[in-house]
Amino acid sequence: MKHSSSPLVTASPSLDVETVRAQFPILATQAHGHPLVYLDNAASAQKPRAVVEVVSDYYLGKHANIHRGAYLLSQTATRLYEEARERIARFINAAEPAECLFTRGTTESINLVAASWGMQHLGPGDEIVLSVLEHHSNIVPWQLVAERTGAKIRVIPIDDAGDLQLDVYYRLLSPRTKLVAVGHVSNALGTINPVAEIIAAAHAVGALVLVDGAQWVAHGNTDVQALDADFYAFSGHKLYGPTGIGVLYGKRRLLDAMPPYQGGGDMIERVTFTETTFAELPNKFEAGTPHIAGAVGLAAAIDWLDGLGLEAVAAHEAELLHQATARLGEIPGLEIKGTARHKAGVLSWVAVDPPISTLDMGTQLDLEGICVRTGHHCCEPLMDHFGVTSTARASFGVYNNHDDVERLAIALAKVFATAHRRLGVVREAASTETIDYPGAAAPSPSAVAEDIRELFEALPDWPMRYQQLIELGENLPPMPEELKTQANFVSGCQSQVHLAARLRPGSEDLIEFLADADADIVRGLIAILQQLFSGQRAAEILAFDTTAFFADLGLDQHLSLTRRNGLAAMVQRLRQLAGQYERAVAP
Ligand SMILES: *Cc1c(COP(=O)(O)O)cnc(C)c1O
Repeated sequence: MKHSSSPLVTASPSLDVETVRAQFPILATQAHGHPLVYLDNAASAQKPRAVVEVVSDYYLGKHANIHRGAYLLSQTATRLYEEARERIARFINAAEPAECLFTRGTTESINLVAASWGMQHLGPGDEIVLSVLEHHSNIVPWQLVAERTGAKIRVIPIDDAGDLQLDVYYRLLSPRTKLVAVGHVSNALGTINPVAEIIAAAHAVGALVLVDGAQWVAHGNTDVQALDADFYAFSGHKLYGPTGIGVLYGKRRLLDAMPPYQGGGDMIERVTFTETTFAELPNKFEAGTPHIAGAVGLAAAIDWLDGLGLEAVAAHEAELLHQATARLGEIPGLEIKGTARHKAGVLSWVAVDPPISTLDMGTQLDLEGICVRTGHHCCEPLMDHFGVTSTARASFGVYNNHDDVERLAIALAKVFATAHRRLGVVREAASTETIDYPGAAAPSPSAVAEDIRELFEALPDWPMRYQQLIELGENLPPMPEELKTQANFVSGCQSQVHLAARLRPGSEDLIEFLADADADIVRGLIAILQQLFSGQRAAEILAFDTTAFFADLGLDQHLSLTRRNGLAAMVQRLRQLAGQYERAVAP
């Protein structure tokens, strides 16, 4: 036998990515004048036309409530809903469809197990094992149940690459361990965990295992029986299906013994005011009218994805990850977080030099039509582990192509180059310029507000307004380092913000605000707040309606919810400080 040696040529069936792309109308749209590059698949995947059509056909021609009607239409809807369950059972190789419960998504699936199984089985001294990689959805439900039952949470640590430290995990396991809940794939780092080994080790001490499969099911074959998973949770919307639908797989023997999670219609056998007997699986856990169209759409998504072949999908996404890791690795000062040996198509990074906030990277990539996620990715314990508050993350889906990766790499290189240049300019300016604070009171906040409003009204689109914000931020007077204390820290801003107030030197009642942030865009917002309020009296500051002003300015729709909350947090702090001065100067 002769072995050929071409490691890059894989034998797996290949994927025609352009044919795939053509099935996603959204990929032909533009963002800020650029063709869309959607790289936030770990947050949610886009939907192929086939899925949307099945959902719309269902609503337009087949909808009725299920399980109740004597009439044909209701029977049709019931059949479609139950066929969807069968499709899902085949997809994850469950022993029977009744082991697949429809939920709203991964979060609800985990909450169901925590509330039902957890409340029934956990007690003081029992232990739940989680990992540092977990999504908040696989942490908080366990904390809630631990609080109520007296159970304790133990945590599997990771190494610097982002791999679970399995040796520590094995030592954590004991007869006290009742449940291990781990993700199949980390949404923040892409680490693929060795779940089969994790499950076998847990079973050896008599513990059950819940696998959070939210990041796996769309990227590789799932076989819950081969894994011997006790519970397996995932969401439809990350699987190219609808939002608001998900699955909890559980072994029949476990689900049968668990109390219902919610009470209501459809989950009972017989109800009297003294006693209710519950329906058989799966209805026992599906109280109320379910998301029928969601289930039907999810089955369609699975049909569609299976049609491509998950091996081909995995090979394609691995190639994209390989390309992106190489291209982003070429950018000096960019540091990739998460370099595990086995990774799914997720790439997280931070800018170390120059230190660009992830918020600014995300905002600038958005202006180029590129969607990436920035923030803590619902994994704050993991961010703490790396000593960062957030990362920027690109996550690949089946429709991403090499052009998408190239566009990301080029745009990012540009972001770094601009930051380098700007940093040079700012350093120079800081060494020569002195900030002087005029003794006289500034024009009133409403007069300043009018000027700012005019300034922004003259700018026709978000890219220009963004540029204006950045320029305002560049002229922000520096905040003395000694004021950047914990007491002056404002939380909730997706950026490190410090804000302090003092009386203007030489004045008895004019307040001055000093603030800084690590994100340029937030510095821009701070500059506006400073122009409005620095040099004003407390009463004037408190009388001004800041919320209405920012709504008026029309920046709202471009500031993400977290940033808007951050703005609200800054305004709140500012008003709080003004309130203190108002009381202090009052006669
Ligand atoms: C997205 C995600 C969740 C939560 O899924 P929902 O659809 O929001 O319920 C949980 N775990 C992981 C790993 C995820 O990526």
